[in-house]
Amino acid sequence: MTGQTGFARALTVAGSDSGGGAGIQADLKTMQELGVFGMSALTAVTVQNSLGVHGVHPLEPAAVADQAEAVLSDIGADAVKTGMLFSSEVIEAVCDVLERYAVRRLTVDPVMIAKGGASLLRAEAVAAMVRRLLPMAEIVTPNVPEACALLGLPEDAIRDETDMADAARQIRLLGPEYVLVKGGHLGETEAETRTECADVLAGGSDLLRVLRSPFIPTRHTHGTGCTLSAAITAYRARGLAMEEAVRGAKDFVSKAIAYAVPTGGGIGSLWHAA
Ligand code: PLP
Repeated sequence: MTGQTGFARALTVAGSDSGGGAGIQADLKTMQELGVFGMSALTAVTVQNSLGVHGVHPLEPAAVADQAEAVLSDIGADAVKTGMLFSSEVIEAVCDVLERYAVRRLTVDPVMIAKGGASLLRAEAVAAMVRRLLPMAEIVTPNVPEACALLGLPEDAIRDETDMADAARQIRLLGPEYVLVKGGHLGETEAETRTECADVLAGGSDLLRVLRSPFIPTRHTHGTGCTLSAAITAYRARGLAMEEAVRGAKDFVSKAIAYAVPTGGGIGSLWHAA
């Protein structure tokens, strides 16, 4: 094999999912599939399988920051994403490094709670995320409950596409250049009659787009958010414009959901080689 030249590099700062479906594992698989050299700064080890999160072991903030520093000072990254950050101390430490290396292409997936209900971000850390991390983000990708938490709204405040668009505009005012509010959680109760899944992208100079994809009826959707934000990051590392990167990432995730595998006895995971 000959060496690659001119390759794109992406760093993920996120938690490990021992079950392989979400977190760092989903990120690295996605980056690999999209032809990008993936690197990681681990924030926490989760004890996890298809049945849920059975334990969370956070790393010291300095250990997280040191990994990012080691990567950025030597290999470099064309784009960076953050996933599970767990505490305000980790958020502060990571932001210090990202600031020092003037990281511009930063995707923030504001991971808060796993599908099974386990907390992946302490409640006290939301304020640090809003104050420190969001202003540095090129794009932030909340689902509906996360968008409500970022805005300090009640959990049921976002009910339709109009609410999603309002929330996207309001989150933009917190600093990120683009906001993608993901609508996957809306209409879950009507899953049997649902035909599409809509996300709202706001940003740039007055850009507002409703991005639609076919709704794929499967319960094996573990890792969807991680995969989407990793794909956006990989496409940005390759130099695609933001709207193109988001559309490409949505397409990648839709295919990965269509080929999802029923890993274990609970909620299975996406198949990343889509
Ligand atoms: N575990 C880790 C380490 C994660 O980063 C995430 C991502 O959001 C999850 C679990 C949650 O995945 P899901 O909500 O799809 O179960």
